[in-house]
Amino acid sequence: MYRSHLKFLFIFLMSSLSSKTLFSQRNFGSETILKVQPTPTPSPSCINESSVYKKKYSQQSFYVPKVNDPVITLKITLHIFKPISDSGKWQMDNNKINGTAALQSLLDSITNGHQERYSSKRRATYAKDFNSPHIRDSKIKYEITNVYFYPEQNLYTLYNDQALFEYIEKTDPKRIEEGMPLVFNASNGPGHLSSYKGAAAIVTTISNFDPVFGRSHLLHEIGHAFGLGHTYVNTSGGGSDWQNFGGACGSDDYLSDVFPNNNPACQNENLATFKPTNAPCMSCFESTPDTSNNIMGGQRYNLWMSPLQMGRRIRNMHLNANAGRNLRQFAKDMESDHKNVWTISKSEDWDFDIQLYRDIVVKAGATLTVKCKVAMAIDGKIKLEPGAKLIVDGGEITSWCKSDTWQGVQTPAIKKKKKGDKSIAPVYIKLLNGGAINKAKMQMPIN
Ligand SMILES: [Zn+2]
Repeated sequence: MYRSHLKFLFIFLMSSLSSKTLFSQRNFGSETILKVQPTPTPSPSCINESSVYKKKYSQQSFYVPKVNDPVITLKITLHIFKPISDSGKWQMDNNKINGTAALQSLLDSITNGHQERYSSKRRATYAKDFNSPHIRDSKIKYEITNVYFYPEQNLYTLYNDQALFEYIEKTDPKRIEEGMPLVFNASNGPGHLSSYKGAAAIVTTISNFDPVFGRSHLLHEIGHAFGLGHTYVNTSGGGSDWQNFGGACGSDDYLSDVFPNNNPACQNENLATFKPTNAPCMSCFESTPDTSNNIMGGQRYNLWMSPLQMGRRIRNMHLNANAGRNLRQFAKDMESDHKNVWTISKSEDWDFDIQLYRDIVVKAGATLTVKCKVAMAIDGKIKLEPGAKLIVDGGEITSWCKSDTWQGVQTPAIKKKKKGDKSIAPVYIKLLNGGAINKAKMQMPIN
């Protein structure tokens, strides 16, 4: 029981909230879905220190995709700076190499439901006894929201990301928000990960729309936006995953399915062991970019992605943990997965900010305490089994989707009271310290 001097709001489980008026499209039988009116702005304590964060939700391995997991779509918006005339790169005509048809086929090759989503198998010139599991479906796909052309001679050749982003925003601020910006111009700088106002963005000057190189190049650059580093050592920037970009040897983000320990074929193991290590981790980078066909190897035909790399991509659509480059804000609105739910079977404290793509089920006897922000997908539900509890302690549960709300908290069915029965209905949900449940579908009176 909760002490009465704590400031919290009782949620009344109103069996009178009929499914007819509020859920004309849905039938929840006798179960009750709650919506709570907004309460004063919560002061979330998002400190990322709970053991469940450290051991589970922050780990890329937790998010390695399974066969029935929901597919998450990353929206990408293309911004093309070109000369005023249709000449050079990125023409708005029928030029077979640099015209719109070539652009279309390049974009198709990363968004047609195959190349961006289905990984090829590992092929390596070394480590024959090292078998990384092959997961074909990465459960991430891309969608191009729009292609915008900017006939601006100066910006066409300018190597200055900030100026490009500012120009786009000045033209129409919505363009910078509708999808992750993917900017083409002809500055001859290498393709690279960038950011604008805390969000991930990519700027590239790929030489033309050569479909094979263009495809692996774009998938590689987008890989950086997901927080993946190179699998080889490079001196010209971009970050190496074995080193310090995110997955240094011995760190939580170490890619043990890319870099085999004590790899006999590694030509630079000596060098690798000088880097931050956590013995007995003795990995090394891939000695040349084409040592394997990894997507982050940077070579022409590379399309292999390891399970942990896939897991990191999906994690970074849940957490804003990509070195200040928010990517999850560009997730496409989607309905919450009601079948492949996250099950909470022991009590958990969520002191981290998370964006979800599936329902949550809290098992009997467990309590889910939300201290930070949980954002649900469309019609998402948090289902409490009998005896389970939900506490929103200074945090907020809301929806991240722009087009629709989440469903609400589903509590166990309540028995109809008989006349004279003075027992109090059990309380399953508590709001403490300004905790709030927002943007849920159902109206809910609060006392
Ligand atoms: Zn790169």
